[in-house]
Amino acid sequence: MEVKDREDKDIRQPDLKSMNMEELRNWVIGAGQPAFRAKQIYQWFHVKLADGTEEMTNLPKSLREKMDEYGIYGVSVVTRLISEDDGTNKFLFRLHDGNVIESVLMKYKHGNSVCISSQVGCRMGCRFCASTIGGLVRNLTASEMLSQIYSIQKITGERVSNVVVMGTGEPLDNFDNVLRFLQLLSDPNGYGMSLRHVTVSTCGVVPKILELAEPRLGLTLSVSLHCPNDAGRSAIMPINRSYPIDVLLDACQTYFEKTGRRVTFEYAVMDQVNSAEQDAAALAERLKGLHAHVNLIPINPVKERNFHTLKKTVLQFQKTLERYGIPATIRRTLGSDIEAACGQLRRDAIQQT
Ligand code: SAH
Repeated sequence: MEVKDREDKDIRQPDLKSMNMEELRNWVIGAGQPAFRAKQIYQWFHVKLADGTEEMTNLPKSLREKMDEYGIYGVSVVTRLISEDDGTNKFLFRLHDGNVIESVLMKYKHGNSVCISSQVGCRMGCRFCASTIGGLVRNLTASEMLSQIYSIQKITGERVSNVVVMGTGEPLDNFDNVLRFLQLLSDPNGYGMSLRHVTVSTCGVVPKILELAEPRLGLTLSVSLHCPNDAGRSAIMPINRSYPIDVLLDACQTYFEKTGRRVTFEYAVMDQVNSAEQDAAALAERLKGLHAHVNLIPINPVKERNFHTLKKTVLQFQKTLERYGIPATIRRTLGSDIEAACGQLRRDAIQQT
């Protein structure tokens, strides 16, 4: 599979909520307004978390009208599901063009973590994932990624302390917008989240992993590995045909050397696919020397797909990995009573219409 940059026609880039302070200042001046308005607007968006211009009462009406005309992208809640098991919240949001996306709020002792989508749909084609079934519709703008976090904070009244870019979409296939999103999210004059509290997950778009290493951001990169050999990985993850495991792990090594941040590896355990004793041994062999940490995910069954796992298989896999010296944790399954697997709520919403 060839991964090319794509453009989203008809979407204003950047819209006002995706602009940094300097861009906003230029826009404000272009609109015939004094430069200090830029700071006010920026604060409305990223500190007071305003959804629209109606709230921005210290701005002249004419400016607010110009802003609406130019374009501000956000999200509005369609559905909120709350898990009775563990308090996980799942949100279905509508975008300005009618597309829907989903986000998840997970509550931990150390704080609230939000899992956001980075694209509408996905074109990576991983066999076990619900997000990819309808293909890619479009990239999300930086403002649409931020708005998922801002809305959840507003709805719950609780600060979001961690963000994982692990919802629908491949963040490194929407590289420029994701980078813009990270810069805005961590701006001390804006929302001000330290990137130490942010994880970006990728299926392995190697050139973009290398590009992401360059600005030396403090975020955690997580790589979805899911299989220790190329034949098996290519069968479940088409990206592996472009960037096989050796090339991917080399890029992870470079990422670690450049940023000083350890890469974590995701491994969704699937019976009959990647969960045998020799798979664990082969995985340990491949990860040797990488200071790797493995997150084991019990596969979340997707109704259109036929992958399953048993708890004892995951436990066994963890034991074997640790015997070979690779630390591994098992991801707690949260919100299984509310269809928390990637893309399931969105698929159900699409099928209903
Ligand atoms: N495209 C990125 C991020 C989105 S997917 C990536 O591939 O990493 C987030 C994680 O959920 C990935 O590790 C992905 O492989 C995993 N995943 C997808 N479908 C799943 C399922 N049905 N059960 C468990 N994990 C799944």
